Amino acid sequence: MADRPLLPDLDRAVYLDHAATTPLDPRVAQVLADSARDLFGNPSSLHGPGRRAREAIDGARAQVARLVGSEPDEVVFTASGTEADNLALLGVMAALGPGSHHVITSVIEHPAVLAPLAFLERQGVRVTRLSPGADGVIDPDALARAFTPQTRLVSVMSANNVTGVIQPLADLAALTRDHGALFHTDAVQAVGKIPLDLGTVKVDLLSLSGHKLHGPKGVGALIIRRGVKVHPLVLGGGQERGLRSATENTPGLVALGAAAEIAREEGAGEAVRLVALRERLLDGLSAAVPTVYVIGDRWRRLPGHLCVGFAGQEGEAIRVLLALDEAGIAASSGSACSAHRAAEPSAVLTAMGFDPIRARGALRLTLGRFTTDADIDRLLAVLPGIVRALRPLTSHA
Ligand code: PLP
Repeated sequence: MADRPLLPDLDRAVYLDHAATTPLDPRVAQVLADSARDLFGNPSSLHGPGRRAREAIDGARAQVARLVGSEPDEVVFTASGTEADNLALLGVMAALGPGSHHVITSVIEHPAVLAPLAFLERQGVRVTRLSPGADGVIDPDALARAFTPQTRLVSVMSANNVTGVIQPLADLAALTRDHGALFHTDAVQAVGKIPLDLGTVKVDLLSLSGHKLHGPKGVGALIIRRGVKVHPLVLGGGQERGLRSATENTPGLVALGAAAEIAREEGAGEAVRLVALRERLLDGLSAAVPTVYVIGDRWRRLPGHLCVGFAGQEGEAIRVLLALDEAGIAASSGSACSAHRAAEPSAVLTAMGFDPIRARGALRLTLGRFTTDADIDRLLAVLPGIVRALRPLTSHA
């Protein structure tokens, strides 16, 4: 194979779909390549290569812990954000054993939370699903009203993957603790983008995923606060303190640690840069297309996350996406997982009170570490024309 620098090949496209996944940071790519070559030992082996792999994994564990303000021994590595969510929900309920249990969640959760909860429901667990307001925010008062004496677990995401809206995590977690239940948050979209400190926010379980923070795909972690009982889903050799058996993915975990370290060091400055870029994008778009409106709370959102609709032209997101793609710009409608069902209205937007036609019209533009001013210029040069060209089409509909 020819030598090639480990830089993401972003020349061909303007990539504005960071909520779906992020390109590897070249520094992380270097760590991944180096550790894939050098850290081949089985971390459970006692010999030198094994010990070196083990030490590297422990270093990564400490880096991930530092990013979220937990202790290293509270970090359980998994093979994805999805697996972390499943371990949190199914693992906590399995550890509780049989009984008349109640779980509270929200209707806007990712399928990685909704599907295991639907599975638990079929096993007899009662599940309450809170709806957001029109701003996409879950109201802590609605949570307060939903508790019953049987409530054992609450799961509300830190930030939504469609709208980018950030949830009032500290309030939701504190309320849950007051009611004697455990609080899980799917922080896959939030980690590395906004500060999260488990030292001050009383979250008991937190899921994160490497590929959303310029780390590799297929690695994630569940942070489990000390003392919280979780039953493993993957049984075997007892790795990850018995909570997730399987020979560790050493290069992936070490790269996740590197991605976490970079996010911790550069996250605050990067958030300021992304908010400025996002606002420039929105200002430029509003000037050219006055019908544009922001979906979800205007300010309570992830720094690089914009979800917009075009009044009177909803239902056409798929046409916009195809035209953008032709112009070399990658964006998204609802979430990547539902892209193959783009004709269906987004469940998140429906829950926010959008009618089915408007719920099909969302355009998600998500920025990341390698997004530049020039990328925003290119988008602003083509998107208004694309939207204007839609008008005659929709007027027939
Ligand atoms: N949770 C949220 C909010 C997400 O956005 C995603 C990915 O899109 C996941 C969970 C799943 O993470 P992974 O792709 O690592 O399984």
